[in-house]
Amino acid sequence: MTTLITGIALLATQHPEHGEIADAAIVLDGAHIAWVGAATSAPAADERIDVGGRAVIPGFVDSHAHLVFAGDRTAEFNARMAGTPYAAGGIHTTVTATRAASDVRLRANTARLAAELLAAGVTTFECKSGYGLDVGTERRSLLVAAEFTGETTFLGAHVVPRGVSREDYLDLLVGPMLDACAPHARWVDAFCEAGAFDADETRVVLTAGAARGLGIRLHANQLTAGPGAQLAVELGAASADHCTHLSDADVDALAGSDTVATLLPLAEFSTRSPYPDARRLLDAGVDVALATDCNPGSAYSTSMPLAVALAVREMRMTPAEAVHAATAGGARALRRKDIGAIAPGMCADLLVLDAPSPVHLAYRPGVPIVAQVWRAGSRVM
Ligand SMILES: [Zn+2]
Repeated sequence: MTTLITGIALLATQHPEHGEIADAAIVLDGAHIAWVGAATSAPAADERIDVGGRAVIPGFVDSHAHLVFAGDRTAEFNARMAGTPYAAGGIHTTVTATRAASDVRLRANTARLAAELLAAGVTTFECKSGYGLDVGTERRSLLVAAEFTGETTFLGAHVVPRGVSREDYLDLLVGPMLDACAPHARWVDAFCEAGAFDADETRVVLTAGAARGLGIRLHANQLTAGPGAQLAVELGAASADHCTHLSDADVDALAGSDTVATLLPLAEFSTRSPYPDARRLLDAGVDVALATDCNPGSAYSTSMPLAVALAVREMRMTPAEAVHAATAGGARALRRKDIGAIAPGMCADLLVLDAPSPVHLAYRPGVPIVAQVWRAGSRVM
């Protein structure tokens, strides 16, 4: 079954060979893209859909989200907006609620957020554990995450839970917890930050995860300058996430590596903190992704369009760079070659925007301009 999509005012493929095509058409063949080009030279197909002069971009790839949790942190947000600074310790509140929640409750919460992501145009998302911090809850968090995505990440190294010594928790992390969790995860992650894990601890956890076949990602340099970004490069991580406080040496290390810098402006927005400087990274040649960081503490939003708008307004990215980072950039941060761009052979994940150009994602902040979502060749929204 082939489908010809016409009436595309502007197709921003995010693919180096195809670039941007005005008055474009796309042919889908099942779950994949079969053809892209000018509408005037489009081949015939079994069915034809006219999107009426709208822009089309790839589905967003959200490479950083924490969706499996219970409870919320309204009170903490309220206090922060009244002047209390964000600190890593608020995670304990969510850990208590998550441990107490049933699988049914965790699944329902995750399903609600996954549906929000889809409505915002996210066709692939990564999902972390990290609110269990005991063997059973970390394992069931990953089992719930795996019901919604293949991009599951073991984040037992989120913080040291209350009532356990650092030494004992590290032994648990790289021993029984990793044994229980590695079969259900694609990635291992750690929160390398003052108040969470230092460089040596982070290296031990990530190396142990890699030895079980997991790919490495890392929360780095979010709240303070620190060793995370260079450690990510040293360990060959797919992504160093946050990258808000970077030295020149950090930027140089990222630029000379395959590690993507994943920027999470919804976290800075929601914690009223200084944004990372995307322009500095892009000018140095660093590969940049944008993601939501959706989590109940520091960024309770599933809006990739808002992340794009913030990246443009606050982080000195052009609209085209921000859209690229939210699609192709996210795919690179997940080391995926089948998503994040619109080109023959790639997965047919695409968004029809209720706008003539993707610039409107930044130009019209907060407006729901994702009109249609196609995933694996089917219209799902
Ligand atoms: Zn995070």
